[in-house]
Amino acid sequence: AKFVYDFTEGNKDLKDLLGGKGANLAEMTNLGLPVPPGFTITTEACKTYLESGTEPAALRDEVTAHLDALEAQMGKKLGQADNPLLVSVRSGAKFSMPGMMDTVLNIGLSDKSVQGLAKQAGDERFAWDSYRRLIQMFGKTVLGVEGELFEDALEAAKAAKKVTVDTELEAADLKKLVTKFKKIVKTEAGRDFPQDPREQMDLAIHAVFDSWNTDRAKLYRRQERIPHDLGTAVNVCSMVFGNLGPDSGTGVAFTRDPASGHQGVYGDYLQNAQGEDVVAGIRNTVPLADLEKIDKKSYDQLMQIMETLENHYKDLCDIEFTIERGQLWMLQTRVGKRTAGAAFRIATQLVDQGLIDEAEALQRVNGAQLAQLMFPRFDEDTKVETVGRGIAASPGAAVGKAVFDSYTAVKWSRSGEKVILVRRETNPDDLDGMIAAEGILTSRGGKTSHAAVVARGMGKTCVCGAEELEVDTKRRRMTVPGGHVVEEGDLISIDGSSGKVYLGEVPVVPSPVVEYFEGRMHAGAQDADELVEAVHRIMAFADRKRRLRVRANADNAEDAMRARRFGAQGIGLCRTEHMFLGDRRELVERLILADTEAEREESLKELLPLQKQDFVELFSAMDGLPVTIRLLDPPLHEFLPDITELSVRVALAESRQEPHENELRLLQAVHRLHEQNPMLGLRGVRLGLVIPGLFTMQVRAIAEAAAERKSAKGDPRAEIMIPLVGTVQELEIVREEADQVVAEVEAATGTELKLAIGTMIELPRAALTAGQIAEAAEFFSFGTNDLTQTVWGFSRDDVEASFFTAYLEKGIFGVSPFETIDKDGVGSLVKLAAEAGRATRPDLKLGVCGEHGGDPESVHFFHEVGLDYVSCSPFRIPVARLEAGRAAS
Ligand code: ADP
Ligand code: MG
Ligand code: MG
Repeated sequence: AKFVYDFTEGNKDLKDLLGGKGANLAEMTNLGLPVPPGFTITTEACKTYLESGTEPAALRDEVTAHLDALEAQMGKKLGQADNPLLVSVRSGAKFSMPGMMDTVLNIGLSDKSVQGLAKQAGDERFAWDSYRRLIQMFGKTVLGVEGELFEDALEAAKAAKKVTVDTELEAADLKKLVTKFKKIVKTEAGRDFPQDPREQMDLAIHAVFDSWNTDRAKLYRRQERIPHDLGTAVNVCSMVFGNLGPDSGTGVAFTRDPASGHQGVYGDYLQNAQGEDVVAGIRNTVPLADLEKIDKKSYDQLMQIMETLENHYKDLCDIEFTIERGQLWMLQTRVGKRTAGAAFRIATQLVDQGLIDEAEALQRVNGAQLAQLMFPRFDEDTKVETVGRGIAASPGAAVGKAVFDSYTAVKWSRSGEKVILVRRETNPDDLDGMIAAEGILTSRGGKTSHAAVVARGMGKTCVCGAEELEVDTKRRRMTVPGGHVVEEGDLISIDGSSGKVYLGEVPVVPSPVVEYFEGRMHAGAQDADELVEAVHRIMAFADRKRRLRVRANADNAEDAMRARRFGAQGIGLCRTEHMFLGDRRELVERLILADTEAEREESLKELLPLQKQDFVELFSAMDGLPVTIRLLDPPLHEFLPDITELSVRVALAESRQEPHENELRLLQAVHRLHEQNPMLGLRGVRLGLVIPGLFTMQVRAIAEAAAERKSAKGDPRAEIMIPLVGTVQELEIVREEADQVVAEVEAATGTELKLAIGTMIELPRAALTAGQIAEAAEFFSFGTNDLTQTVWGFSRDDVEASFFTAYLEKGIFGVSPFETIDKDGVGSLVKLAAEAGRATRPDLKLGVCGEHGGDPESVHFFHEVGLDYVSCSPFRIPVARLEAGRAAS
């Protein structure tokens, strides 16, 4: 293999091999832009080095050959005493990664060549400044010396001279500083600063390789789901100098505003400076526009280059450049990061400029960005006090009274208070409190901590690992930096998108994007209008492109209506169990406890009109669109009181000799229905088969509701869905009864109802026998939540709290399989069942109704396996529409 590429040999599509920086340096070189010559060592070389502990045998010679060529081209030799070539050694992985090794500039300087550089440049001060920078960077990043030691020495030198900025240090001062720095290296690293330029270069290259595996880099990759085996490339680039006086300098620029997408001149410039000085904030930079006054020629050239880059990359680029005595050099470019809002705006702007088409515009945005734009935000104009910052674990803006335990969270929220649950870290016992709270704040734990994982799962705002906060749950208070104490009941605000924690109540403004989807458009700030306009257009692109239809999981008319406004094309999952709660619980209790046929029928009869009314409302909200209703699914005990609570009640009554026959009867029923594994117990279709009349009552309610809507000139499109089927026989029995009820209702009302009957595929056996099941089903809806539980054999309610964190940390999952579909396992069952089902019944309708229906990556998968629709919660609908469009383009 070839391990080294000259900048003239690569291009922007070789990011896997050359890293992002190297690939783009090559691209710019080939565009004829002024890039200082150099070469890139590939990620393959890095991988070999990391795997075997030594660099590949051929690497050294290849580097030597490329270095020779570079020296010939530049007419200088690396570190040569009288006319030294200097280089930078720069890391550069495929994805830009904080936590990787910093770049080392000025490699090649030594006690001898520093003199040569001074002569070459005619500037003694510059040469010593460059040398002290080399020792500082090399000491810190290659030899592992504490960076502060150098900084302190630099500060001391300035203080001794009574100056404030480093440019005021003269050659003699810097020379002394070099001596000091070398001493620091010697004491701290136990070796002399290497004087051999090639040794400097080789050590720096190895340090870049090694930095791939620092803890910080590994953590970052896990969090961002970047594979661990990519390795980093290393760029060796001949030095240009921005620190050669006022006619030199260095800067950063964007081809357009990364916050708004607006075109214009955005960036910062710093005269007489090198490398990181601009971003390090050591001296005040000037806005890029000022460069026009400082050096018009370079400024004009830079503007020209920025235009070239935008037209070439057809996207926003960010840029690093340096001016050496009036000569402009490009040091880096890449397609720049941007805010979620800018992503939408830039994509549409580029379409308008004719640079990209609609399909490409869809690739420039994603569902996660759209979701981010849909959260309410804190009003940025209000003055507030930030008291801490943690990890932005689950987006949103939450305000509430601080509470420090789950019990209080529940109690207060029941009485109408908004609360933020503050814990050091959360555990499964906090679940009730997390549900009750507006948001969750912890002082420990990362993106995969319990709080973060669970909050994301619930769509609840969460900031975790805010380490400066001292949470004292015993005394129900936390101390913030500066000593202020937040007591239970004090208002706090947390921003799950930025990780910021504020004292007091920060006003929250609804997202303009949600206002738009809700149809509540009012002219707002220009910024919001532009954003909404862009989202509107991108959604139209997506809707035109997508093949997948998008339905909502909605249980009542209100949710259905909202879902429709958000673009739902029907309901993919209406859970009827929610219709048995609240006041109706008692009826269900009676149904479960019924001793006689008559008693059972009595309670079913009372439930029927209530159910029917629910469906009438739902059908009218979704008029003309399909509504899939799932018959009762959860285990019965969920409708009965808690066993412990009830036992206590009975025992108390007994000891007080109070009457308690009802409680006792209830307790016996609870005992009778108690299951070790309710998730694998009496639920779903099994309920329908053992409790006579339950499913037929529900089917009757659906049929009668549909008939009523028809006679009111409505267009109900009901689909009846049987849950938890494992074998076609179960479905056949239920189906026969259902068909009969529907026929009765049709006869009685004189209407033809055309109700479809289908099943959920959520057990492995159902997926494996899908061909048979399709004989009795007109549609399949993949219940990927249960399917994931049953395929993996773990309970979603328990594992997220117990061992998922460990699994995520060990990298067994990059992401919870409940969040993103496990393509290899669960996904292959979906694929297999879809194919087998369609083989039996070519017009079988296929959908999915788990949480996965609104997850971007999963949506792409469902598109690929050829499902007809995905169904998700109303708020996820725009995300699903967008991702379905992206998947199809
Ligand atoms: P990062 O990935 O942290 O941006 P870079 O490799 O881009 O690291 O380098 C850090 C700084 O040093 C940047 O400001 C860059 O422009 C500057 N730099 C890198 N190589 C050179 C060079 N050959 N000549 C001058 N400045 C350089
Ligand atoms: Mg850079
Ligand atoms: Mg299920």
